[in-house]
Formats: sequence, C-alpha cells, structure tokens
Amino acid sequence: MKRVTVTGAGGFIGSHLVSRLKQEGCWVRGVDIKYPEFSKTDADEFEILDLRKRDDCLQAMRNVDTVFSLAANMGGIGWTHTAPAAIMHDNLLISTNTLEACRINEVENIFYASSACVYPNYLQETNDSPGLKEDKVFPADPDMEYGWEKLTSEILHGTYKKSYGLNIKIARFHNIYGPLGTYDGGREKSPAAICRKIAKIQGVEGIIDVWGDGTQARSYCYVDDCVEGCLRIMRSNLDRPINLGSDRMVTINELIDIVSEIAGKRVHRKYDLSKPVGPKGRNSDNTLIQELLGWAPSISLEAGLLETYKWISAQVNQF
Ligand code: NAD
Repeated sequence: MKRVTVTGAGGFIGSHLVSRLKQEGCWVRGVDIKYPEFSKTDADEFEILDLRKRDDCLQAMRNVDTVFSLAANMGGIGWTHTAPAAIMHDNLLISTNTLEACRINEVENIFYASSACVYPNYLQETNDSPGLKEDKVFPADPDMEYGWEKLTSEILHGTYKKSYGLNIKIARFHNIYGPLGTYDGGREKSPAAICRKIAKIQGVEGIIDVWGDGTQARSYCYVDDCVEGCLRIMRSNLDRPINLGSDRMVTINELIDIVSEIAGKRVHRKYDLSKPVGPKGRNSDNTLIQELLGWAPSISLEAGLLETYKWISAQVNQF
C-alpha cells in the first residue's frame, strides 16, 4: 500500500481511514460527492466525483495500487427504510463502476466495506441470538434492501476475483460508531442518535424518545478498531468475507444506560413502537478474525461512547 484511493472519504469511516493511512506513510487520494462535514481531510488530494458514473470511477482509481471502497448511499435504520430504491440503484452502480475501474487501472489491492446486514433474519430473532458466523449467510434472507445490495455486491466482487484474479478483501462491518459520524438529520445510527438526544437534555434529568421498546440488541464497534481492522485485513491473505465488529451485544436500553451514566443525567424513555427497529438481536462472531488475524476489536463500549458523547455533546451545545 503506497498510493491509495479511499472512496467515501468525505464520510464517517472514510475520513478516519484517510487520517490513519497518512500516519502509515501512504499517499492518499480521497474521493466523495462531498467534503468531510466535521473535519478537514488529511488526504493529499481530494476529488469530488460521483462514483455512480463510470468515467468518474476511472478517474478516481487512476495511478494507485490500493483502493478502499467505502462510498455508499447509506444511513441508519430510518434512512435505509425510507429510500430502498435509491440505495439499490446508487450502491449497485458504485460497486460495479468502482470494480471495473479497478480492473482497467490494474489496481493491486481492493477492500470492500460490506455489512452485518447481509445476515439472514432467521438467525437474529431474539435478543440473545448467537453471534453471526461468516458462513451462515446462506440461505439468504437479509432484513432489508440495503442488506440484499451488500450481499449482491459481495457476490459481484467474488466474480471479479474469479474471472480476473483481482486481489479483493471484504469486511462485514457491525455498527461502527465514534466521533465525526452523522448524529442528526435522519441518517444517524443508534449510538449517535442516543448521544444527541441525551446531550440535548437541559439540566440533569429529562425524557428521550426511543425507537421500539428498547429491547432490540446490537454489538457496536468503535471506529478506531474498525480502521485498525481494515488495515489488518488488507495486509492479510484472507480469501473470504470476514466480520469486523465487537462481539459484545447490548440492548438499546443498556446503551442508553451507559450514555446516561457518561452524561451524568437521569434519562426517562418514551418508547415509539411505530418506528422500524430491524432484527431483534445481531451480534458478531469473532472466531474467524481471531483465528486468521490473531486480533479482534477490543475498545470497550464505555470508552468508545465516552469519546463519542463528548464530541456529539460539543456539537449540539455549541450554539
Ligand atoms: P457515510 O455515509 O458516512 O460515508 C459514505 C460516503 O459515501 C458519504 O460521504 C457519501 O457522500 C459517499 N457517497 C455516497 N454516494 C456517493 C457517490 N455516488 N459517489 C461518491 N461518494 C458517494 O457512511 P460510513 O458509516 O462511513 O460507511 C462507510 C461504508 O461502510 C459504507 O459502504 C457502508 O455501507 C459501510 N458500513 C458502515 C457501517 C456503519 O456502522 N457505519 C456498517 C456496515 C457497513
């Protein structure tokens, strides 16, 4: 990895990844349809390009040996339920054109950011469901179109490996959170939304609305662990998709408890059962990453949420 393109570099994980790659001594081109919202990019070059377009992809992937493919039309459950057609349309175009541009430009290493959303509903029906193992993705039954699109893109990447011998790594991210992530506006995910709502409580006691009954459970991975995992996976000789997430599953109610404690606020909850909540319980099984990389995410939820809360609280209370 010497000359690297990061797509989605104006987004949450992409902007963290660019900074880390710079620290590792790489030359980095960031590509996105927008500049990072909350920080200045550390990229050597940042190009505004629309990766749904083939010519923009050819430009983005020129003269680099490595591509981290993170660009996607995505968001939390509110967004993925609202815009299924745009998600399918945009992301399948981005994946197809990015891969083809990598092939034409003879890119040596390709990383594709997939998602835990590829896993079937029937393995996630209770909030103590066992961790999801990589080989349990078929028979396929993802929860929503975003998951079907990620699974289709995984298969597409597999075909480029098979037909053209491209060196491709695929990681299935499980709920990545941290500073510099969207926390408002409809695309935010649960940790950011909860931090925002609690940060907005004036004084030491208040009420927040909660989507669902708060018993749905997820595992959450701090962004520094995610970026570390991306680099380790890219430098490995992995030949199949792998989970990149924490294997500590907590309910939304437990997540609220942790953030309330950090904030030093007494938080009452108003449950909104009309909102989408997704599968009842989703957790990462980290056996494979431990076995193959001798590593797994380890930053505690309490430590990660402390940093995230501090940052979101500073954002929402700055005016
Ligand atoms: P993000 O929305 O912050 O970043 C994605 C970036 O892609 C955005 O900056 C967006 O502007 C850009 N983009 C969208 N359409 C584009 C286009 N047509 N051309 C160029 N750029 C475009 O999301 P993120 O959380 O940083 O996620 C990064 C990747 O990881 C995505 O592929 C996402 O699906 C995947 N992922 C994230 C999570 C998570 O918890 N954050 C979980 C699973 C998978």
